[in-house]
Amino acid sequence: MKSPSKFRLDILSWRPIRGILLWPAFPVALQVVSLGVVGWLVANGLGIGLEHSSADLMTLRKTNLTTLAVWGLWWPGMIALAILGGRLWCTVCPMELVNRVGDAIARRVGWPRARLGRLVRAGWIVLALYLMLQLLVAGFEVHRVPHFTATMLLLLGGLAFATGLVFRDPRSFCRGFCPAAALLSVYGRYTPLQLEIREASVCDQCAEKDCTSAQNRWRFDRRSCPSLLRPYRHEASDGCVLCLQCAKVCPHDNLGYGLVTREATMSRQSLLRPFEAGFVMVALGFVAHEVVGEVRWLDAYFHAPPHWLHAHLPGLAFGWVEALWFLLLFPLLVWGVIAGFGYVLGHRKGWRLCLLSAATGAAPVVAVAHLAKGAAKVSSWGGFLPLALRDPEGVSTFQAITVEHTLRAPIKLVALSLLGWIMLLAVLVIGFRAWRWVKEVPSESLAAARAGMLTASVIYAAVLVAWVLPGS
Ligand code: SF4
Ligand code: SF4
Repeated sequence: MKSPSKFRLDILSWRPIRGILLWPAFPVALQVVSLGVVGWLVANGLGIGLEHSSADLMTLRKTNLTTLAVWGLWWPGMIALAILGGRLWCTVCPMELVNRVGDAIARRVGWPRARLGRLVRAGWIVLALYLMLQLLVAGFEVHRVPHFTATMLLLLGGLAFATGLVFRDPRSFCRGFCPAAALLSVYGRYTPLQLEIREASVCDQCAEKDCTSAQNRWRFDRRSCPSLLRPYRHEASDGCVLCLQCAKVCPHDNLGYGLVTREATMSRQSLLRPFEAGFVMVALGFVAHEVVGEVRWLDAYFHAPPHWLHAHLPGLAFGWVEALWFLLLFPLLVWGVIAGFGYVLGHRKGWRLCLLSAATGAAPVVAVAHLAKGAAKVSSWGGFLPLALRDPEGVSTFQAITVEHTLRAPIKLVALSLLGWIMLLAVLVIGFRAWRWVKEVPSESLAAARAGMLTASVIYAAVLVAWVLPGS
């Protein structure tokens, strides 16, 4: 008997979308285009911004198309896309293509290659690289100097290529070295837009199992899952990068992508994996630093501890002390409070499970708060886009705005208070929904998950209230 559909809306069943999906060059053609864009951004950013002061860079980062596109548009866009549709960015990510090229060259040459170690497969290198990126942002202003942003893109491409050459596991970069992997995996798990099988009994009776067959692994198109997953047992946090190869190769057309029902496997909330929980713990501090930074008086309070520390550690640049505060000390403080709160609510199963559960509860709220900062950034940087398209290096535009005063800096696209109202509503809605989601975690995790979700909701809602206050 046919089981009820797990889809409310299956986008892959729409004929034009299906046509695009089955096009042999999908998604490689899109990856080639995005690789071309990244290459151009690298060329445009190299050599720019090295001689400018920190004050100059506050404007130059918006007038230069490389920094504007990477930090002001792409990064917030990737967060929004992950929250709305899962890992859709990965479908067109050029780094997967570069990694695949490295992998193909190594297979053709036939030199011996290593397997990804346990530490790498567990996601700890991904987390370490994300942390390193945050440190580079805080300490070296990578996000403000076009030359450094371009160098970072080059290094990422080099890492993707090198991991393809060195490791024989397919998608070695996506699985073990992409600095955005933890963010995408965590933020992408709460959306109701998911990849799902259409009819469980079809997979049960499928003799071919083309979606996992080793014979299909190295084809150009219609491949079995290159991430070595079983698409018919797709689960949250399994590393699926939405390449949709399984939907292309399935001879029974049994995989869809769209709005799924509560019965779908991906709708079941499991605990985060440890590296994902580690990411949420760090992101809570980083996102707080970002959203607080929009309100000057609140920012002064938030940064009082690193200023005090800096006064006592004068040998260390303020950026590093600031990073120490929002990446380590502030998260330690908040997660200590959350653990105590979890204990009060009844958690008695040890600190490790407490933190895993609390991070699982807090994750959707952290994601929406991160989106709030992203929206504020697009609002404040977006007006520079027409200027940056006219003068991609941005140096003349920078001169016209700050030295010659022949051009006025564009104003914010949307007032902070309006964004604050919208995002406050979003945090409250997600907090309310998360209250229901956390009920699905194992019962011994419930108290800690609630403590994480409630604490994160209170912190970010309080900051967003400051956004909407007059004069912020
Ligand atoms: S997804 Fe398709 S190929 Fe894979 S088991 Fe199900 S029916 Fe078979
Ligand atoms: S499960 Fe499907 S969409 Fe996900 S990585 Fe594997 S082939 Fe790609």
